[in-house]
Amino acid sequence: MPGTTRVAAIGECMIELSHLGPSHHGVGQLGLAFGGDTLNTAVYLARLGQSRRIAVDYITALGDDPYSEAMLAFWQQEGIGTDLVARLPGRLPGLYMIRTDDQGERSFFYWRSAAAARDMLVGPRGGDILARLKSFDWLYLSGITLSILGEVTRLAFLRAVEEAKRAGTKIAFDTNYRPRGWVSPETARFNLMEALRLADLAMPSLDDERLLFGDADTAACAQRLHALGVPEVVVKDAKGPCLVSVNGEATSVMPESVTKVIDSTAAGDSFNAAYLAERIAGGDPIAAARAGHRLAGQKIQHRGAIIPLEAMPADATSAVGE
Ligand code: ADP
Repeated sequence: MPGTTRVAAIGECMIELSHLGPSHHGVGQLGLAFGGDTLNTAVYLARLGQSRRIAVDYITALGDDPYSEAMLAFWQQEGIGTDLVARLPGRLPGLYMIRTDDQGERSFFYWRSAAAARDMLVGPRGGDILARLKSFDWLYLSGITLSILGEVTRLAFLRAVEEAKRAGTKIAFDTNYRPRGWVSPETARFNLMEALRLADLAMPSLDDERLLFGDADTAACAQRLHALGVPEVVVKDAKGPCLVSVNGEATSVMPESVTKVIDSTAAGDSFNAAYLAERIAGGDPIAAARAGHRLAGQKIQHRGAIIPLEAMPADATSAVGE
């Protein structure tokens, strides 16, 4: 469709198992869901994109098993393009379990080292995908995307992203630093900085940046990212105001007031989707931050990464045609 902005999100979606109630001798019932940072953002962006002429593709690899089938059906139902999803025979999606202790504190356990998504950009088919990145208007990736690729593929991927950028594709990046995804903090810093140098829009969370780069506050984080060459930065800070900084001019934007947080999973992912949707639709960065807070504020009042369609905030005013 002419006038449509094409966005590709690139990353991994996993099978999520979580305890449904108390367990006896470690045995109990589990709930099944699907989750992954870039996928969560892709779902929300596809939803918001319907009234804004934004088309979203997800780039990853799955197996040929029933869980992969179910993921694919779910994405398609959400209006996400899946033509670039590789299906690797005999492989499986990664899996993680969420355990909640007596205090409500959650811990995560992963089985993802053999996940199909790790090989999404390998071989001739992978080369073909890399060459097609430049056909998109925007690429959305995260530090998790980088961390699951082997070193050789990661370099090829970053080169292809650079080439896409040179061809006019815009790059949105959330560092999403997860220590266990990297062999060392140094490796993480090196690779994340390589990606950040290519980013047109960086949308990190302060907690992650503080852990890896030692940023004192959102302003220090934004300044560091500008120094790497990122023109537009939005630093999220949970219930604190986010800092929007464009070419060094910074504004704090307060989040929604939420009295009871039910589940903060995917708060940042949903924020990113709403921010990006608003920017693509022509809204300014402050309006985009407000849209981000609005969706994230809704998200955290629901369990799970993806809220029901009915719970999506009423469409913002900058939708195309209004
Ligand atoms: P992440 O999910 O990456 O850890 P954050 O915790 O920084 O992200 O939160 C992302 C966004 O979620 C915030 O910018 C805000 O919009 C929203 N949010 C998170 N926690 C709260 C809260 N307690 N009250 C209101 N909004 C919140």
